[in-house]
This record gives sequence, structure tokens and C-alpha cells, in this order.
Amino acid sequence: MQPVGNEKPPNSPGRPASPFSAGPHTSSPFISSGPGFGFEASGTSPVTTPFPSANLGASGYLQSAPFLSAGSMTSMQNSGNGMPAPPSVKFSGPPTSPYLSSYSTQDATNYHQFQAPRFPTPAQPATPLQGPIVGSPVTNTIGSSSSQPQLSSVQLSSPPQTAMQSPSRSNIPPLPGSSLFTPKPPAQPSLPGYPSVLPRGNMPPSPADPLYLGPRPVSQPPLQTFSAAYIPPLHASPYYAHQVGAIPPPPPIATHLGFSSREQIQFTNVRPPGGAPIQDLTEEFQSLSVGSAPGSHDPGVDIKSLPRPLIDDDEQTKILESYPLNCHPRFLRLTTHAIPSSQSLLARWHLPLGAVVHPLAEGPDEEAVPIVNFGPAGVIRCRKCRIYINPYVTFTDAGRKWRCNLCSLLNDVPGGYYCALDATGRRCDADQRPELSKGSVEFVAPTEYMVRPPMPPSYFFLIDVSVAAVQCGLLEIVSKTIKSCLDEFPGFPRSQIGFLTFDSTLHFHNLQSSLTQPQMMVVADLDDIFLPLPDDLLVNLSDSRHVVDVFLDSLPNMFQDNVNVESAFGPALKAALMVMSQIGGKLLIFQSTLPSLGVGHLRLRGDDPRTYGTDKEHILRTPEDPFYKQMAAEFTKYHISVDLYAFSEKYFDIASLGSLAKYTGGQVYHYPSFQAVTHKEKFRYELARDLTRETAWEAVLRVRCGKGVRFTTYHGHFMLRSTDLLALPAVDCDKAFAMQLSLEDTLLTTKTVYFQVALLYTSSSGERRIRVHTAAAPVIADLGEMYRQADTGSIVLLMSRLAIENALSHKLEETRQLMQLKLVKSLKEYRNLYIVQHRLGGRLIFPESLKFLPLYILSLCKSVALRGGYADASLDERCAAGYTMMISPIRRMLKLLYPGLYRIDEILTADTENLDEPLKKLALTAQCLDVGGLYLYDDGFCFIIWLGRTVSSVLVNSIFEVDLSSFPDLSRVQLHESDNKVSRKLMRILKDLRAKDPSIFQLCWIVRQGEPREGYLLLSNLIEDQTSGTSSYVDWILQIYRQSQSS
Ligand SMILES: [Zn+2]
Repeated sequence: MQPVGNEKPPNSPGRPASPFSAGPHTSSPFISSGPGFGFEASGTSPVTTPFPSANLGASGYLQSAPFLSAGSMTSMQNSGNGMPAPPSVKFSGPPTSPYLSSYSTQDATNYHQFQAPRFPTPAQPATPLQGPIVGSPVTNTIGSSSSQPQLSSVQLSSPPQTAMQSPSRSNIPPLPGSSLFTPKPPAQPSLPGYPSVLPRGNMPPSPADPLYLGPRPVSQPPLQTFSAAYIPPLHASPYYAHQVGAIPPPPPIATHLGFSSREQIQFTNVRPPGGAPIQDLTEEFQSLSVGSAPGSHDPGVDIKSLPRPLIDDDEQTKILESYPLNCHPRFLRLTTHAIPSSQSLLARWHLPLGAVVHPLAEGPDEEAVPIVNFGPAGVIRCRKCRIYINPYVTFTDAGRKWRCNLCSLLNDVPGGYYCALDATGRRCDADQRPELSKGSVEFVAPTEYMVRPPMPPSYFFLIDVSVAAVQCGLLEIVSKTIKSCLDEFPGFPRSQIGFLTFDSTLHFHNLQSSLTQPQMMVVADLDDIFLPLPDDLLVNLSDSRHVVDVFLDSLPNMFQDNVNVESAFGPALKAALMVMSQIGGKLLIFQSTLPSLGVGHLRLRGDDPRTYGTDKEHILRTPEDPFYKQMAAEFTKYHISVDLYAFSEKYFDIASLGSLAKYTGGQVYHYPSFQAVTHKEKFRYELARDLTRETAWEAVLRVRCGKGVRFTTYHGHFMLRSTDLLALPAVDCDKAFAMQLSLEDTLLTTKTVYFQVALLYTSSSGERRIRVHTAAAPVIADLGEMYRQADTGSIVLLMSRLAIENALSHKLEETRQLMQLKLVKSLKEYRNLYIVQHRLGGRLIFPESLKFLPLYILSLCKSVALRGGYADASLDERCAAGYTMMISPIRRMLKLLYPGLYRIDEILTADTENLDEPLKKLALTAQCLDVGGLYLYDDGFCFIIWLGRTVSSVLVNSIFEVDLSSFPDLSRVQLHESDNKVSRKLMRILKDLRAKDPSIFQLCWIVRQGEPREGYLLLSNLIEDQTSGTSSYVDWILQIYRQSQSS
């Protein structure tokens, strides 16, 4: 295993352009004695005061918060200024063995250790860490799934995933000839003419096959279309023979040359026979021929005609042409930009109706969100529904009143905001006011929007120093990376920092600015956690910088001889909560081993193959101990967001630990089998990004929408506070949220529905802000229009989150079938719209807007989170992948589901050093791999470089500067930039690809054709191919076709 990508400077993680801080800095809008939390009264309950605080407790927290435990409420004493009292600094008897001799000799030269004293204090609030969680904070339903009929109502032959049979833990697909490799026979009798998935049936008919040249169905495109696009390959693909062995090889398709240009993958625009408005109808839908050749029982699908997303998602900006006042789609995308007018219409849509919200998405600098400050007048909102003034409101009464676009209420225009109207009724100053002319705007919030003064950004590090963490080299990278980022922490010079290290005991570190060196205090009593020094564990970074520097310099040495294998993770979490509870902020956890001591210890429940396929399978993917969910609720209450960095080589129960991030707006970073030498680059980059990217603190998110529609379920990392308020202790540009929409009972009578996203947060500079995105969508009564306006990216993202959540309560197999069922139902419905009219037998028809949907759903079923069974991914990898998918924005998700595959040997060897030509994306099938080529695979999370068997040795030597023939296993080969043109170009290509999504650093793995690692590194990710029991793309289309034909 080798690290690559050393072309990137270690400490330049590509800090995102700040979406927040670019605007004018305003004069201190913060008064600590501000009234209660005035933001975000529920839109469903009309309120007449402009800034209601009736539903807020004295502490400013919503009392209806479903996750507040009784015990914690009592402990939140009002200290008189609206701030909660710190929780429990407890003093119950003398410390037991507070001083551990095992640390006394370590690094004694620059690090003082002290016995942990217990300070007396006048008050002893009860511990906030007890009491059950009331209510379920997050809805984990899968929308309308419960009302869907079971799968048996649709003819499902050949389930796509049968990998349960594989006995091996390896991800390598079974060898050819193995009976396991044979596709599973259909579960029920085949339809005449469709003998299911016999191997030959999976293969596209050869162009040379005389049967294939026979008469075609009427609606078939002329055969020349196919022939013209057919380009014989220069080399037959030896891979395919190697892979499938006994199965006859497929016809040579234009592999390494084919599939790469849009022209060659055009599929048929159906022309209705004799219809008059042909022009309109040809725009209407797309179709694929699924006809059997005469004399043959094999169904045929032209592989080349299958649609593939070979061009990056365009963010659906065409909506801005018809709705120029909408916010940019990077912030808000509906699953269809046409809202059905009735329940009955919605019922025929079958796909999820909802939205993807990415409130802090990064965009080009010139499109920065404008900042508006209304000053003391306050932010202008509708009295009734509480939306913020936006470009869709209208002005009447000579400019003295404005009508709300959401609820139609006529509001007074405040005196200081008055402006005359022009002849068309538009405000004369509309173009000068961003809130009246732009879909996205950021308001500076007055004190009514504060429950307490904006807190400084604070970062607290919880670092496992047990033997596992020491041995893998973690400590040195953590300390060096943090140190290198100290100058870039957001919110300088207000930022706060602190550290807690732990193994079987907890080590607190006094960083008081008057010290010259930090002091370590050890607490060994795990049952009765207390803070030995309540005030100096989280300190101002500027004041204590010299102490922090000394601490970080000495951290790796301090524990280098540690042989402690235990992990008091739960007690350490409780201690971190005590330290952070007054300020909130980010808690970064670095954990290398299963928690073994004290509260929250976990057992090796492991990854039992016998559990798969049973009713208990899903339990493995859910948190075992409610402790972690309870802790997450506590963290959210105190505005603490948790990021988990997980490094274990062995089973680690990410399902349980990850829930800390899930309910606090945090993130799970997983580095399986972490080794410093291998993962250093990736870990360093991602940690640095986490520490330096602009972050929104103490945030809440609400999406309002017009009458008749309502958001009902939310999917992502947050804590649901009340029915529609998402609590986000911290949120940044790398997180997106998905939600489902439902119609109220009545018919929608308006022509337009409006949506408004409002994110209230504290910027790192200490300003309270409200970011508002507004969008409008038409209400329609035509199902066809819903399909025409469908947004595949948004649908795929929402469906993937529904699938991940479904797999927490169902078998993987059931979840995959549910996704397939949704797809089939929608295509069947769509087909019924047109089939009679246009005699489209023998064709799979689908709307242009959804042409990639079947492929993405197939890929979703093959994703690490949902694929196969026991043998197809380790449990921790599955759960980590699920957590990642639950926060990913659309673009990252689509890239993960259909990664880039590029042939680059010709580019590398070309004379020019110019790399301006975009790389050509290839179809994700081994048929595209030429034995003489060098290919690059990029799924946004890692790179794979694949070397064909006969690839030029000159080329390879230029890249690696070693003779690879002496390396039977390329996992030990390192990629460095060498002083030659080829190597420089390769590094440039990798750098450019990494720049497309700065949130993740792709490690680069190198694999040679034929070596065992090829299977799990690359071949199992070529999602168009049939591997270890999964359908190929062609099979999948045939299945979908058959099922959408059945009635
Ligand atoms: Zn209103």
C-alpha cells in the first residue's frame, strides 16, 4: 500500500473561499443581554409578534426540543445572562490514583505533570449526562415506502444481488467457471421470448451476427446508425476473456475509442407514426430498443446505445432561464421542478418528491452571496408566515405595503424601507437591493436572533493515545497537522483550543497562557468524571499559542512508549462535553480502537456472516449502545459538533461511534488499516481542510414553503428540533441536506409554489447571520411535465439517503429491491403515458431528464454501503460509506456512483505538455480497458492507476523510475513526481482532478492487470460489468424493461 500525490504541499488544503466573511463588516450588532432566540417561528403557526420568543425557555433553548432529557434540563441553570450554567464539575471524594507513574518519565524535560486536584466550588449542579432521550430526534422513515405494495406485485426475476453465496471475505469476484459466478436463475418462469439471463443473453448481439441484421421492429432506428458508430478496437480486450473465462467473449465494441463522445451514445428520439406535432413529440421522450432478434430468444440491447453520464452534472442551471430570480441550483434543487397539483398526480410520480439543500455551497467568487444589513430596523419578514423579504414579493399601495408571496398577507413597509414604485408597480430601487433582486442573500441578524453573544470558534481535540494509535503513526501526523494550521484557524484572534488525550485514563492538559509549558493532569476514576482545572483546558489560541506549540511538539514523544491497549472513550467523551459546554464548537475525535472501558464501552459484536439475510442483519448497522445517541443529543444541546476520525484496522463499530457525528451535524472520516506512510497525505489534507474551512456555528436551518405543500422528512446529519427545525452545531460548505415534500389534502390552487431556505448561524468572525435562498416552481396538472422537469441528480441523492436509512431497518437485499421497485414503477407509469398512442412495443422508454436514472440506481445498489452481503464489504466500511453518503452534495454523489475512467497513456506520451483538453470519460466496463493502455480511475475518493499487461515499459519507467518487473505486488510502489515530462503531466492530471472537489484528497493506488488486487481495487468498481453476482448494465436494463412491461 503506498501513498501518492506528493505534489501537493502538505499544508495547503485548498482553503475554500469564504462564503461568509467577504462582505462588509458591520458595527457590533451583538448585545449580550438580547432577548430570547427570536428566529424561526414555525411557519405553520401564525404569530403576530415579529420576533416571537414564547416557545423559548429562559435559557433560550427551545423547550419543546425532543431530545432534552429531564435530567439535563434541570442542570441547565440560568446564570442570569441567558447562558446555561456549565454542567457538573463534580467533587465526590478524593481522587483515586490520579497520578500514573507510567507517564512520569516521559518527556519530562518539557512537560510537567500534576496530580489532578478536585477544586471545591460553591454549587454542584447535577450531571447533565443522565436521563433517557425523550422522543426520537430524527425521522428514519423512507417516505412513502410503507404504503408501497410489496415487491411481489411486480414480476421480479433475477434479483440483482446474490453475493450472499460467496464464502470469501475478499472483495475479489469469484473466478470464472465457478458456479457462484453463474447468474442466479430467475425466481419465476420467464416470459416467452425472454429466457432471462442465460450468459449468452447478457451479451449484446454481435454486429457480425446475421441474426442481428434481420428485420427490426418498426420503430427501430435504421441499422446504419449502429454500424456507423462501430469502430473495431485496435486490440481485442484480453481482460474480458480473463475475467469471464468460459463465457463466450462479447463482440468487440468500440472500447477504448468508443463511448467517449456524445455523438456515439445518442439514443433514439422516438417519432410517433404519422403524428402531426412531430417536433414536440420528438422532444418528449427517449427510448431504447429491447427487441429480440428474429429466430433468437435472446433479448438484445445495444450496449453502445445505453445512456451514460460522460459529462459532469451541469447543476441544472437551465431553470435559471425561466426563473432568473431563483437562487442558484447549487443551493437548492427540487427532484422535479414542477409541483403536482393533486395527490392523485403525485401518486403516479413514484419517485421521491423533495429537495436537496446545500446552504453553504461554494461558488465562483463573482457569485458570492451578497450581505444585507437593515440596521436597527431589523430584518423584514412576513408577519404571518415569517418568510424573509425576497424578489418574489410584490408592492402595492404606492409602495407602502408588500404582499407576501408565500401566504399572500399584506404587510406594512417599515418607514425606513419605503421607496416609490415605478409605472409597472416595481420598486424603483429594486435593482440596487439584493434582497429584491437576488435569489440568495445573507442578512446581518440583529440581537433578537441571539440567545447569547456569539461564541468564539472553538476546537477541542480528543486524541486516543493507546498503543494502536501510537503504532500506526497517528500522533505525529495529528500534532504536526494541527500545528501547521494554527495560523489559519477561522475566527483569529478569538479562536479557542484544547486537548484531551486518553487510553485507560484521561489526561487533561493545562494550557494557561501564563505557563511556559503545558501541564498534564491524569484522572483515572472513570465512573466519576470531573474536571481537574475547569478554566484552562479550553483556552484562547492567541494568548496561549506558545503553550499550545510546546504541547503539539511534545505529543508524539509523550506517548511513544505507551503500551496501554485500553480505551476509556465514553468517559473521555463526557469529559469533553464538560470542557466545551460553555462555548460549544467543534469536537474532533481521533480514535484507533474499540472503546473498552467505562460507560459506552462496546463489544466485538463483529461482522457475523450468519446474520446476513436474516431479520437481524440490519442491527449490525445501527448503534449498539444508546449512550452514543444520548451523548450526541447532549452535544447538540450545547452547540457542539463532532467529527470522528476513525483509524482502526480491526472492527471498530463505526455504526455506533458514527452516530455522534450523525446527530451533531458532523462528519465521519474513515481510514481503514491506517498506516502513516500510506495515508499521511490524505489524512493531513482532510484534517487541515476541516480545521481551516469556513464554518458556520450554532446554526439552525429551516425550509419554508407555500400553502398546500409541506416538508415531512429530513435526511442528513443534524438533530431535528421541533418538526421542521434542523439544529446544526456547526455546518460548512461540504454538507448537503435532503428532504421530502408532501402535499396537503387540498388541491393546490396557486400557479406557483415558493420555497425559502433560511440558515441562521454565527460566522467565525462573530457575526450572527441569516443566509436565505428563495426559489419558485410551477404547479402543474400534467404528469408528463413532472417527468420533463425531473432532476436526476436530486432524485438520486434523495433516493440514496432513503436507501441508507432503509438499510438500518431492513436487509440490504430488501433495500435494493425497494430502489428497483421505485424505478420500475416510475418507468411503467411513464410508459403508460405514451405506449398506446405510439405503439412502442419492444422498447424501454423513459424521459430525457431521467435517462441516467436506471444506471445510477444500479450503481447505488452496487455501492459499498449497499452492495452484496457479508463478503462484499466490511461492516465498518459499509457504515462509514453510509455516513459519507448522508452528507454528500449532489455532484460528489454522482461522481461516486459513476466515477471517471480515463485512458491517459496517449496523453502522457504526446509531445505537447499542454493539458487543456478535458479528459475523455469512458464507459465503466472492463471492455474499455486495453491491454496496451494506462488508465486512471477517479471516484472522487481515490485514484486507481491501471497498467495494461503490454503497456509501454518506457512509459512506466518514466512514471516510476524503477523497473516494475521486480515488484510482483505494486502496493509497495510509490508515486513521486520525477524530473521528466511524463511524470510531470501525470501529476498535473491528478492535481487538476483533485481540484474539482477540494473537500476530499484522493489517494492513488497502482495496480497491474492480472494481479490479485485488481479485483477489489478496480474491477469490482466497474459498475457496468457483471461481478460477483451483480447485474451488468445490460442485464439491469433488461430486468427493468421486463418489469415495466408487466402489468
Ligand atoms: Zn407570509
